[in-house]
Amino acid sequence: MSDVKKPPLVVSNVIFFVAINIIGLVIAPIYGVLVGFSGWTWAFAAAIWILSGLSITMGYHRLWSHRTYKAAWPLRLMLAIFGTFSLQNSIYVWAARHRVHHRHVDDVEHDPHSIKSGFWHAHMGWMLRHWKTSEIDFSQAKDLENDRIVMWQHKHYWTLVWLFNLGIPLALGFLVGDVLGMVLLASGFRLAFSQHCTFFINSLAHTWGKRTYSDEDSSRDNGVIALLTWGEGYHNYHHTFQADYRNGLRWWQFDPGKWLISLSAWFGLAHGLKRTPKFKIQRARLQMQFKQLEQRLAQSEANANWRAALESEYQQFKETIAQWQAVQAERVQAGADALRDRWYRTQFRTRYKELEYRMKMQAARLSSLQRLTRATA
Ligand SMILES: [Zn+2]
Ligand SMILES: [Zn+2]
Repeated sequence: MSDVKKPPLVVSNVIFFVAINIIGLVIAPIYGVLVGFSGWTWAFAAAIWILSGLSITMGYHRLWSHRTYKAAWPLRLMLAIFGTFSLQNSIYVWAARHRVHHRHVDDVEHDPHSIKSGFWHAHMGWMLRHWKTSEIDFSQAKDLENDRIVMWQHKHYWTLVWLFNLGIPLALGFLVGDVLGMVLLASGFRLAFSQHCTFFINSLAHTWGKRTYSDEDSSRDNGVIALLTWGEGYHNYHHTFQADYRNGLRWWQFDPGKWLISLSAWFGLAHGLKRTPKFKIQRARLQMQFKQLEQRLAQSEANANWRAALESEYQQFKETIAQWQAVQAERVQAGADALRDRWYRTQFRTRYKELEYRMKMQAARLSSLQRLTRATA
């Protein structure tokens, strides 16, 4: 973007970000070292940090931007209220922009924070100037106009922001007898730190990490960013399967957003949780493994046996996919009536399981081939 004439600065945003970063990342730590914060101040700041972060991932992102599940009104109200703690604009604005990011990811003409416009632009630069791509297109979030909680939050956003980001920390500060400390830690530091963590999803999670499921866009899976963002770091999975309420798929991947949505469903506060069919996930993963192996074997003085093995694996892969498509077609043809039959359903389930198992074994073989080729590279 350096050769393009830069649009004017968004003065209010520049002042806000300079102020919050100086207060949060310079003054608050100095105050912490020289004066220190009380235990209660730490506890309240941590609680606000956790609640606001979870509300962004569970609410702003997975519920409202992607509709990956449905939530009862008490949960929606909580997510909308605690989300304002993060100062990332109203749900309505956030979701409209985020949907454009997914639709036009990496496109410098349309993606609001395209990584192709540079790391800084994707991280924060997009908010600091009147870029054409930063304009809000509310037509992207028409469905949210039917959600009274979303529209209420949008209407009263700034009142809520002042109340939650200054009013509540001030009140808590009085309560525990540490007003300045509470404002510096629970508002200043917490806000600056958590905002950068979120911004890392647009910058770092489009730069650093693995492309496990697709290389069609710049998104990456990164466990470190997941730790800082309540699970949002598995961004390659998310961009590949955005309708899924999960980001970290494996049980060992840190994704509290996913865990809490499941827990909410267990308590009856959420339902209709969307999951990508296992086979589709396996197919995407294997496709990437094949691609990476092919590239590696093409570059090196590869063993002819490995190339032959890869070729035969690929044939098997195509066969498994063809069989899966056949089962899918059969199921559609059978219609909903047939699927009401228990025996029929069992038959289908076992056929899917067989195909999934075949994919799983193939992934394991490819992983060992990857290790072998890496060891001799
Ligand atoms: Zn998203
Ligand atoms: Zn992204």
